[in-house]
Parts: sequence; structure tokens; C-alpha cells
Amino acid sequence: MSSIFWVLLFIAGALILAYQRVSLRLATFAYAAALLTYTWFGAGSLAWNFALWLVLAALVLLNLDAFRIRFISRPFLRTYRRMLPSMSQTEKDALEAGTVWWDGELFTGGPDWEKLMSAAVPKLSPEEQAFLDGPCEELCRMTDDWDITHRRADLPPQLWDYIKAKGFFAMIIPKKYGGLEFSAYAHSCVLVKLSSRSGVVASTVAVPNSLGPAELLLHYGTEEQRAYYLPRLARGEEVPCFALTGPRAGSDAASIPDTGVVCKGMYEGREIIGIKLNFSKRYITLAPVATVLGLAFKLYDPDLLLGDGRTEFGITCALIPRNTPGVTIGRRHFPLNNPFQNGPIQGKDVFVPIDVLIGGVKMAGQGWRMLVEQLSVGRCISLPSSATGASKAAVFASGAYARIRKQFNTSVGNFEGVAEVLARMAGHTYIMDAARSVTAGAIDGGEKPSVPAAMLKYHLTELARSVGNDAMDVHGGKGICLGPKNYLGRGYEMVPVAITVEGANMLTRSLIIFGQGAIRCHPFVLREMNAAKEKDKRKGVREFDSALFGHLGFTISNAVRSFVMALTLARFSRVPESGATQRYFQHINRFSASFAFATDVAMLSLGGYLKKKESLSARLGDVLSCMYLASMVLKHYDNEGNQAEDLPLVEWAYRAQEQLHSFLRNFPNRFLAGFMRVCIFPRGQTYHAPSDPLGQKIVDAILRTSMTRDRATHGIYRTVEAGNALGLLHEALVLADTAEPLEKRVRVEGVKTGRITALDMPGQIQQALAVGILSETEAAVLRDYDRRVMDLIHVDDFTTEELAAGVASPPEVRVARVSNA
Ligand SMILES: Cc1cc2nc3c(=O)[nH]c(=O)nc-3n(C[C@H](O)[C@H](O)[C@H](O)COP(=O)(O)OP(=O)(O)OC[C@H]3O[C@@H](n4cnc5c(N)ncnc54)[C@H](O)[C@@H]3O)c2cc1C
Repeated sequence: MSSIFWVLLFIAGALILAYQRVSLRLATFAYAAALLTYTWFGAGSLAWNFALWLVLAALVLLNLDAFRIRFISRPFLRTYRRMLPSMSQTEKDALEAGTVWWDGELFTGGPDWEKLMSAAVPKLSPEEQAFLDGPCEELCRMTDDWDITHRRADLPPQLWDYIKAKGFFAMIIPKKYGGLEFSAYAHSCVLVKLSSRSGVVASTVAVPNSLGPAELLLHYGTEEQRAYYLPRLARGEEVPCFALTGPRAGSDAASIPDTGVVCKGMYEGREIIGIKLNFSKRYITLAPVATVLGLAFKLYDPDLLLGDGRTEFGITCALIPRNTPGVTIGRRHFPLNNPFQNGPIQGKDVFVPIDVLIGGVKMAGQGWRMLVEQLSVGRCISLPSSATGASKAAVFASGAYARIRKQFNTSVGNFEGVAEVLARMAGHTYIMDAARSVTAGAIDGGEKPSVPAAMLKYHLTELARSVGNDAMDVHGGKGICLGPKNYLGRGYEMVPVAITVEGANMLTRSLIIFGQGAIRCHPFVLREMNAAKEKDKRKGVREFDSALFGHLGFTISNAVRSFVMALTLARFSRVPESGATQRYFQHINRFSASFAFATDVAMLSLGGYLKKKESLSARLGDVLSCMYLASMVLKHYDNEGNQAEDLPLVEWAYRAQEQLHSFLRNFPNRFLAGFMRVCIFPRGQTYHAPSDPLGQKIVDAILRTSMTRDRATHGIYRTVEAGNALGLLHEALVLADTAEPLEKRVRVEGVKTGRITALDMPGQIQQALAVGILSETEAAVLRDYDRRVMDLIHVDDFTTEELAAGVASPPEVRVARVSNA
């Protein structure tokens, strides 16, 4: 047999073994068997045979634990300890928060699809559905966003009362405390609906149900604290806020300079051990109307009054009644024309009893851990759901508007330039809906997915920014001129708020998604790090050895899997589906292997420096997010019963390739970048941006009534009633099916032939009736349609006095506040 044959045989064997991830022992046996056969039948030279037997000897030695540990793992462990990036306690707390879910599978290079596809379909209970159809629908009906955002700069009293009375602030509070105890999915659906109506109402409802007093009390409060506060919060007798951010500590929230010093003092006429608080917070949502303040500060006990032996405890959380002497509260910030209640709070020498600490003294110093743990859930729901609701409303409205708005004698949605934008809006919104609903379902299944929380927060708010911009473009001047008739402007202005709160987006993308994911989700990295820190040295080195060699095999396997799947376009990789979505599952398998391989090369070559290379980390985070979002789309499509008409939307989810390309283009070690490129893109770029025909299929579905339009925008407030533009736009869209053929007849038989000379539609209808182009009934239909359309297309106008705010800040107050900050 020729040498080429043997070379190919050895290469193919090695690739198969690596692809299948066989153990080192099995690989050694397989190699030994192949070598024996080759030595017997092959015609290699003595030197060549000797070299091959040396390789076998090396493999055998690698199988010997004592040899491996002494000559490889132990020396490497010493270097590894030096390479480990330094980590503060707050970073460690953040890393350990929450659970690893589907994000962990994507790090394996071969995700177990069964884990995702077998997850229960998120569903509303009859009670939750009744709440959405009842109080939630009613709250939307009662809401006049222009009145709230322009005239009143607040919710009217009846809305506050209704929100409190119906338990909107109590969705996460258990029934035994008088709350609604909704599932994460139901909570998300409520926010989707409210945000399709008013960003201010949605934010007002979102905050008490997100990270804040109720959530913290539920998980860490003492029984007395829960028994006192939770029923009061559930009934709306207490309005909560949570204050972490201050003028000096924004993104770097753990650096807050606010202090609480344990000391003795007089409280309600007697001397007690309490805490003297000094703090300055800003941007605090609901603070101006809050009755109870959740507060984060650093706790000190200089006189060791707590008997713990520590003088510094670190970040600690407490609940302070609003009217505590020394607290200054009530002024408001003005978040981009969406004046939900938000403002600063200051405290000067505020003395409070020690039992204000959430969870009591035993939780002193645990504040940061408490916050990051609970953020894993809240961040998956509040902003992702609000962003999705607003985007669904924008798609619903833009589809209808682009149909009823005619320019150049046709619906503007029929122009390719507009269609491209509409398709992008619908594609993005489908991804958002899939991600928020499937992830909420996972939370209801017991997960607290911390890395997906960061991905959802970042990507869904960024996608909402894109959808918001696109909706503005589709609407032209109609979107720009504010007033009661404008249903887009306030949502557009709300986007930067969503981008900034709960961890500003640039920071989330650059530091959190991959930074946390790489350590938390990677099958070996955390094991290696823990082994390196193990106090029992023998145990540590054994554990390190097992993790290190597992890791090496994993990296080699992922390089091979990436290469093979890139060559074959993953056609042979195993996936759960054989139907229309089969290829999409396979593409994710391929990118999972490429991503896992690139991650390992980056971590191995850059070590702790990768933390500083934020752009590389951000791009790897983008790849992870693309795969995550695409997986959510596949599961969502399955959850919705695999509706073939929605397939064009599914196709929109694949963009991981671009991010991997930019990662390779910017990787500092060019040799490694070239090597990775061979393994990841041996055939170059094989995916392309969505095509125009694909986009057209999506647009066809949203420019008219269709099941796809209904499914993609499900859950928004679309009731047909005066004052709800969404309902009225859809009504006009339905009427367009009848009116458009009549309009066309008027144009073709009347205007083009010169029988009709009027320039506007009412005049043309009149003439068409006179010359017999339209019957009385048809003319009435067209007149009615035209009236409705013009009503929707109109924008508001004002006198200068109506627009002027009227009250200016006195300059001296402004100066004083700047110097305080
Ligand atoms: C309307 C509103 C409501 C809010 N509600 C609350 C509330 O109820 N309670 C509360 O405690 N806080 C609240 N916040 C505060 C919010 O969480 C902070 O605004 C946010 O954490 C960012 O802080 P900052 O605005 O000071 O931005 P900065 O920290 O000054 O950051 C400025 C920019 O730099 C970026 N950046 C910072 N560090 C990095 C990095 N390492 N890498 C890349 N980019 C980086 C940020 O992403 C941001 O884009 C609210 C804020 C607003 C505007």
C-alpha cells in the first residue's frame, strides 16, 4: 500500500478520534493498533517507524498520572498561578451568581439540543391570562401617554391607585404575603403589553418587580422583615425604590463612597446600637414618591459593637423609611421626556436601628452578592420585556402605516428601500420575542441564568434601538412631531434609558458577557482556577491535572470539529430536527465548536490580558450572544408549533460569522489568528446577510393581516378604540384590502383617462361617483377609509405658549447643586 494511503489513514483516524472526543487512553490504544498494522504491512523506513513508535511512547507516558503530574501539570500550575488575572471579591461574587444554562452548552462546542428542546413551553395560567385580559388591558385603556409625559409629568392619581390596588407592584410577591406570585413569563407578558402603550407606565410597574426591596426581602430578609414589608408592598401601601448609584459611582457601582458606621445613638427616646448613614445617590427610579428606600452602602464597625471582630464589612443593604430624619428626597430628574418618577436622594448623619439591615446583622457585608444574584433574574425580564413590547408595537404600527401611507401612488411599504427596513424591524423583533419568552420559561423551570441575563439586557435593548430608529424612518415626519397623535416619539426617547440602566450597555458588552461567560460557563476554566487556589496542594495539583488535560483534549477536539464542520458546512453534525430548521441547528453546532476553540486560544495566549482587551472580549461575547439568540429563535419557533410561514423570520437570526471574522481580524498574535482562520473558515465566509427576496417575504406578512403578523406582535395593546393608534392603524390596514382596489379603479379609469381631474381623494371620489366609476356604496367605503387614513396620518400643532415649559430652574440653585455633587 502506498505511503499516501497510510498518511491519509492516520490523519483521518486522528480527525475522527478528536471529533468524537475519545479519551486519551482510547486514543492511545487506537494509535497503537494502527501503528502495529502499519509496522507489519507498511513500507516505512526504519527511521520513520522509529519516530512513530516514539510518538506512541509519548502517548503512553501521558497516560501515566505520576509522570504527567510531575513533568507537566505541576510545573504548568506554577506558571498558571502567575497568569491568573487578579480578582476582587465583588468580581468573584458576580462570577458565582446565578446558574449556568444553555449558555454553558454553547461553550462545549457540541451543544446538547435535547436540553433546550425538551424545556417546557412557557404558558400563562388561567389566572395570569385573566390578569392580562382584565387589569392589564384596563390599565392600558386608562393610560393617556401624552397627558403623562407632557401635561402632567406624572401618572394621574387614578392610575397610581389602580396600579397599587390591582397588584401591579406585587407580581413577584408570593400569595401568602398578598402578592400575585406570577411566573417569570407572565411578569414578562405584562411588561410587553404595558410598554406597547406607555414607557412611563411600564417603567413604573417594572421597578418594584425587579431588583429592589421586595426581591431582596424575599431571598435574604428576616421573617419579621418579610411579614412586615411584603404585605404592605403587595397592597401598594409602601412604594419602594432601590438606591445604589451615586454621582461618583455609576458603572463601577461597587466603588460607592456611601457609608454606614455602627455606633450608639438615641432612637425613639432610648439609646441603641444603630448605624449612622451618609450617602448621596442619584438616578433612583421611584425615589421621589417612594415610602421605603432600599439603600446600598459600605458598612464599618470601628468600635466592634457588632461583636464580629471586623471593622469593615463591605457593601451592605438596608431598608430605610422615607421620613427618617436626615433623608432629603423628592426632587426629580427628567429622563429624556419620559418623566417616570426618578430622582436623587441624600442622607446626612441619618441614624437608624441595626435591624434595618436586610437579613439582619448576619447579612452585613453581603450586599454585593445579594445584588448580583438577584440581578440574574431581574435583568432577564424587565428591560428585555419592555424592549420587546415597544418593538412589537413599532412593527405592528409601521407595517400598517407603511401600507396606508401612499406616496407616488402606492403604499410606501411597497418600495424596496422601505421594505428592507421593515424586514429588519420584524426580524429583530422576532429574535427579541424568542429570547425573552424562552429565557423567561427557563427561569420558571428553576434557572437563574446570569450570563443570558447580560446578553438579553444588552442585545434586546440594542435591537430595540435599531427597531426604534427604523420605525422613525418608516414614519418620516409623522414619527418626529410630538403630540397626542404621535405613538412613536416617546418610545424612541426611552431607548437610551433602557441602554443605560441595570448596567450600561458598553460595559455589559465589553466586560460582562464574555468575561463572566468564559469563566462561569466554560467546562474547564473554573475547575482550573479553583484547583489553582486549592489549599490542599496534593488535591489541587491532581484536580488541576485532570482539568488541564481535559481542557487540552477539549481544545484539540474543538479545533478539529470546527475545521471539519466548516469544510462540510456542518451537514453531517447531529441535531434534533430533520425538518426545515435542521440546517440552522447544524450552523449553531459549527459555530459553537469554532467559538469554543477561539475562546481557548484567546485565553491561553492572552491569559489575564484578555480582560483588558475589551474589544476582543466583546466580539467573543457577540459570537456567544448570536448563538444564544439563534438558539432561542429555534426553540421559540418550535414552541409556536413550527409554523412554516414564520420561517423567513427564523432565517434572520444568523450573524455569528461576522463577529468571528472581526475577532480574527483584530487578534493581536497574527500567527495564531492565521491558524484559527484555517480551522474556522477554511472555505472563507460561507454565510451571507439576509437576501432581498427573504426580506420581501417578511414584509408581505406584516403589510397585511396575516398569522405571522399576529404571532410576531402578539401580546401588545391593540384594542380598537379612540385614542389607541395601534388598534386604529390595524383597523385601517384591514379596510385597505377593500379600499385599495377602489382607489386603483379611480386612478386607472378616472385620473389616467382624464375623466377625473380633482387633485385630492375626496374630490376624486366625488367625481368618480358622478361619472359612474364608483357606486354609492363604494364611494362611501372609500370616503370612510380616506377619512380614517388622514386622521392617522395627521400630526399635532401647538401655539408657542402651549409648548413652553413655563418654569425655569433659578440659576443659583443649579450652581449650588453642581458644587454638592
Ligand atoms: C433613568 C435612570 C434610572 C435609573 N434607575 C436606577 C435605580 O433605580 N437605582 C440605581 O441604583 N441606579 C439607577 N440608575 C443608574 C444606572 O444603573 C447607571 O446610570 C448606570 O449604572 C451607568 O452609570 P453612569 O450613568 O454613571 O455611567 P458611567 O459609569 O459614567 O459610564 C459612562 C459610559 O461608560 C461606559 N463604561 C464604563 N465603564 C466601562 C468599561 N469598563 N468598559 C466599557 N464601557 C464602560 C458605560 O457603559 C457608559 O456608557 C438609573 C439611571 C438612569 C439614567
